[in-house]
Amino acid sequence: MNRAKVNQNIDLDCYNNVWVIGEQVNGEIHPVTVELLGEGRKLANSIQKDLYVVLAGCNLNSSIEKLQHFGADKIFYLNHPLLKDYSTDAYVKVISELILNRKPEIVLIGATSLGRDLGPRLAARIGTGLTADCTKLEIDPTDGKLLQTRPAFGGNLMATIICPKNRPQMSTVRPGVMEKAKYNENHTSELEVIHPILNESDIKTKLIRKEKFEKKRVNLIDAKIIVSGGRGLKQKEGFRLIEQLAAALKGEVGSSRAAVDSGWIEHSHQVGQTGTTVHPDLYIACGISGAIQHQAGMHESKYIIAINKDPNAPIFDICDYGIVGDLYEVIPALLSSLHEKDFLEFN
Ligand SMILES: Cc1cc2nc3c(=O)[nH]c(=O)nc-3n(C[C@H](O)[C@H](O)[C@H](O)COP(=O)(O)OP(=O)(O)OC[C@H]3O[C@@H](n4cnc5c(N)ncnc54)[C@H](O)[C@@H]3O)c2cc1C
Repeated sequence: MNRAKVNQNIDLDCYNNVWVIGEQVNGEIHPVTVELLGEGRKLANSIQKDLYVVLAGCNLNSSIEKLQHFGADKIFYLNHPLLKDYSTDAYVKVISELILNRKPEIVLIGATSLGRDLGPRLAARIGTGLTADCTKLEIDPTDGKLLQTRPAFGGNLMATIICPKNRPQMSTVRPGVMEKAKYNENHTSELEVIHPILNESDIKTKLIRKEKFEKKRVNLIDAKIIVSGGRGLKQKEGFRLIEQLAAALKGEVGSSRAAVDSGWIEHSHQVGQTGTTVHPDLYIACGISGAIQHQAGMHESKYIIAINKDPNAPIFDICDYGIVGDLYEVIPALLSSLHEKDFLEFN
């Protein structure tokens, strides 16, 4: 329903500015919003246009106050009690109406679970294209169009996609990839509060209750040290060794997809194209071959150490230090030398 037609000879010159669709949960701004503001500013500067951010919700005054210091020229605050919690129907309705009215040239959305739900529906409602899960955005210096790059064909090549005939040019962007905008006390974005028309009957789903999923939080995006295990561990219990090494180095535990698919560890630990993109100071890959899809999520680590018993494993092509050996011998040896170091430091 309400799907707009694509490729209707639209006047591209009527579209202006770069927009970020902000994300909040219980009034907390999602970090991806600040990353998109960092990237959005670069794009806006390249085309000499303004950067706007849209935030939908209710009673968001303190979040809005904070958001005003991250470099956007303007904030559209869509304020309505029915926007307090995310619902596809309500958010698509009010944001698509705003886009159709104000005509942004570029719209960026976080590729979070919320953004992956919202982005395609918004694009269909407006009648434009959407490039999902982008890892790189640039402006083509020849015509000012947005070049949207994302992994394709199982991550074996990077595809650059353009949206030549429709506007806005829309992308969802992977969290953790773009550099965050800096907090600037001296900058305050202009604020426009909008009270959209929205009724209960516009929303087909009903939120009955919210349940917090109690699990150990994994923060791979901000981790300085990550120790990851792969299929070379051979069994779930192998992750105890990975956890010990991560704990000794005060790091986080990561994994390859093969380890997740084997049911040895939860997906929240997965690094790579379909997991998390990480930039730690130190990444230790244990029993991981280094498939291109794994590399896509960790190759920008400052230092990479690989432990693998196959000297021809591709991970050795990108690591700074490689240890050819059995991880069940190498990791205990590393642990005992780390404990010895602690012992010397304490004595
Ligand atoms: C669309 C798509 C998306 C994908 N997304 C991801 C992703 O996000 N992340 C990801 O990781 N993968 C992803 N993959 C899967 C990827 O292609 C690989 O299959 C996966 O990364 C392999 O995991 P692995 O390195 O643990 O296992 P393997 O490739 O089987 O490697 C295991 C390694 O362990 C070594 N080894 C074995 N025993 C020992 C030992 N005792 N000591 C030391 N080393 C040992 C072996 O020499 C081998 O190199 C994706 C694939 C596709 C098609």
